[in-house]
Amino acid sequence: MFGSSSGNPVDEIDRTYPMQRRIGTVCVFGGAMLGSDPDHARSARILGQSIAAAGIRLVYGGGRDGLMGQVAVAAAETGGTVIAITPQFLVERMNMLAAGCQVITVPDMSIRKQLMFAYADAFIALPGGIGTVEELTEVMTLRKLERHCKPLVFANFNDFWSPLLGVFDAMAEAGFMSGPARCTHLVSASPEAILPLLQRGVAFEQTETPKPVLLPTIPVLRRSHVPTAGIG
Ligand code: AMP
Repeated sequence: MFGSSSGNPVDEIDRTYPMQRRIGTVCVFGGAMLGSDPDHARSARILGQSIAAAGIRLVYGGGRDGLMGQVAVAAAETGGTVIAITPQFLVERMNMLAAGCQVITVPDMSIRKQLMFAYADAFIALPGGIGTVEELTEVMTLRKLERHCKPLVFANFNDFWSPLLGVFDAMAEAGFMSGPARCTHLVSASPEAILPLLQRGVAFEQTETPKPVLLPTIPVLRRSHVPTAGIG
């Protein structure tokens, strides 16, 4: 169900549905490595070009490496606006984009993710590894908890995400996902179809009451309250 395009809730919308909001910024997650399927890099570049050609700003994790680098280089070369949000420790390790990219350096991975989430109107998950999975599942969890209503598209190139989408189906069948939790994402098999799907997703979300994105306040623990047992 999640793995097929017919599982997308926006497929129910009439194609002439008026666009109520445009995507200004899209956040792309994706592997810091290229992976073994050369089609993925090709598709990532097509996506980067189409993001730039549509005048949409790209926010991503930074660097030239991997699929995330492919999408960013292609967007920058097509004249798009690219923003890399990256923690200091990765700047020192990474091959950064040379030109056409604004770099925002942050203290750690968690602030980076909060900034990426706050900037983005929509999310795309390219094929990737555990880092990509961590990012996309957080978007889905926050969506399920109604902290935002921004669409997420799985770029299911060559069925890369189908096993994970199958796990979501298994979770639903086992009673761990219901109603709104099953509508936290969209799926596209081709790079060309992603932006139209996201745009329809944004229009679709506008039919729901938008919820503000709330960043959690972190309680300041007094020294006597800091748990020490069980560590080290
Ligand atoms: P992975 O899928 O495990 O390769 O991790 C890639 C995702 O995690 C990207 O979407 C990035 O936001 C983040 N990430 C992991 N490793 C790096 C890295 N070396 N440089 C920049 N971002 C990274």
